[in-house]
Formats: sequence, C-alpha cells, structure tokens
Amino acid sequence: MDIATKDTFEERYCKESGISLEKYHTFRVTLPCRCDYDGCEGWGAVGKDRNSIRAHMQFYGPRKGDTKDGKKWDGEEWVKE
Ligand SMILES: [Zn+2]
Repeated sequence: MDIATKDTFEERYCKESGISLEKYHTFRVTLPCRCDYDGCEGWGAVGKDRNSIRAHMQFYGPRKGDTKDGKKWDGEEWVKE
C-alpha cells in the first residue's frame, strides 16, 4: 500500500468509519506508523490518551531516517527517498 499524506489518511479513515473529521480529532490522533501490515499507509489512528500514544510510538513509531514503501520518515512526514 502506498504511503498517504496525513490529510488523505484522515479523510479516508473518517469516510470508512462514518464519522466527521471533527469527531475524529476529538477521540483520535494521527501518528506515523511503520508497522508491517499490508494495508498500512504509514499512519495510524490512535486513541487520544497518553498510554495509547506512548505505546504506539514505542512499537510502531518510525525513527528519523526509517523507510517504508519507498518513503523516508523525516521526523515530520514521509518524504521520497
Ligand atoms: Zn501501520
């Protein structure tokens, strides 16, 4: 799966979940993801609480320079290698 932009990811996620973007941002935060799941677009919708955020970043958060599907995490976003 191609790496999406953060906005594209959020839009698709909301559409598929049938929720508004406003509601999404109330309960979720979009974090970069480097998991091995085939459908992963380089982002994860994570529960907006400290433990979920910490766990996600610990297990799936990319470090600067990590690559995934031809893109590189620059600390802010996925960019072309
Ligand atoms: Zn992922």
